[in-house]
Amino acid sequence: MPLISGTQVAEKVLAECHRDIAALKARGVTPGLAVVLVGDDPASRAYVRSKDKKCRDLGLHSVKLELPATTSQAELLEVVAKLNADPAIHGILVQSPPPKQIDEAAIVRAIDPAKDVDGFHPVNVAKLALEDPTGFVPCTPLGCQRLLIEAGIETKGAHAVVIGRSMIVGKPMAMLLMAKGPGGDATVTVAHSRTRDLAAITRQADIIIAAIGRPYFVKAEHVKEGAVVIDVGINRVEAPDTEKGYKLVGDVAFDEVAPKCRAITPVPGGVGPMTIAMLMANTVKACKQSLQ
Ligand code: NDP
Repeated sequence: MPLISGTQVAEKVLAECHRDIAALKARGVTPGLAVVLVGDDPASRAYVRSKDKKCRDLGLHSVKLELPATTSQAELLEVVAKLNADPAIHGILVQSPPPKQIDEAAIVRAIDPAKDVDGFHPVNVAKLALEDPTGFVPCTPLGCQRLLIEAGIETKGAHAVVIGRSMIVGKPMAMLLMAKGPGGDATVTVAHSRTRDLAAITRQADIIIAAIGRPYFVKAEHVKEGAVVIDVGINRVEAPDTEKGYKLVGDVAFDEVAPKCRAITPVPGGVGPMTIAMLMANTVKACKQSLQ
């Protein structure tokens, strides 16, 4: 069972970004990404820190704005408006989840769609549905699609079952897989918590994308022999024998599923590194498009 290494494919994506950034800099433009964090959620803080570091490693202009947990909707809208107007910033990301006084959907709508490198703005959601290549696609499903392409997995005509229908992963994943062209042209089924007899459906899949948020949810009984499995899940489970006392696992019961697979992504080292690499790629794309 070959492992699909997200770490390796992410390196390739980042090398492409590096090359593009050098070419842009030669033209006098440095792509800029602003990441806004409201509050002090430790997981969000860690994500923001790693995005900032990756930007700096690549030579991107990185702006990290850390706002207090008491920030109001109006204050956050003002920050977004300033970033929208800043010509040095090509990509804007407001780290999720914000504190409860913030209306996240309204913040997403306030971001200039041309700078919405997360791909959550309604304009970009519509562009994905319309297969308009100028749109921004959410980084995680975009990374999953790239993994399939790089691993040489034929999606054309394949039956892909996406488990999960969130706006961040499941829905855009399904749209990417059903779109025309490389990494698409699949026959797509989307399953969710109301799906009846999930295992009977997933056993028909040539490709399973698991984006559920439940550790070890996808078992051997869900998977047919020779299927390809992409595990999007990142779940923290107790592991008393480790230094931290916990470990990160996917939505797939890897040990029992992997032997049946033609290919599978590990957790960690699968989809995770792709998400941040695609964020960098989206920022470079936003910068290039701003010059057209
Ligand atoms: P959400 O909680 O938004 O969505 C989970 C989806 O799974 C929902 O559509 C839900 O159905 C479905 N679901 C829940 N229980 C079942 C069930 N018993 N049977 C079938 N479907 C079920 O999660 P996200 O999409 O945001 O994230 C999914 C996972 O991916 C999480 O583990 C998250 O941590 C991880 N993730 C990883 C990223 C990465 O970089 N690798 C980035 C983003 C997310 P319903 O709609 O009916 O509730």
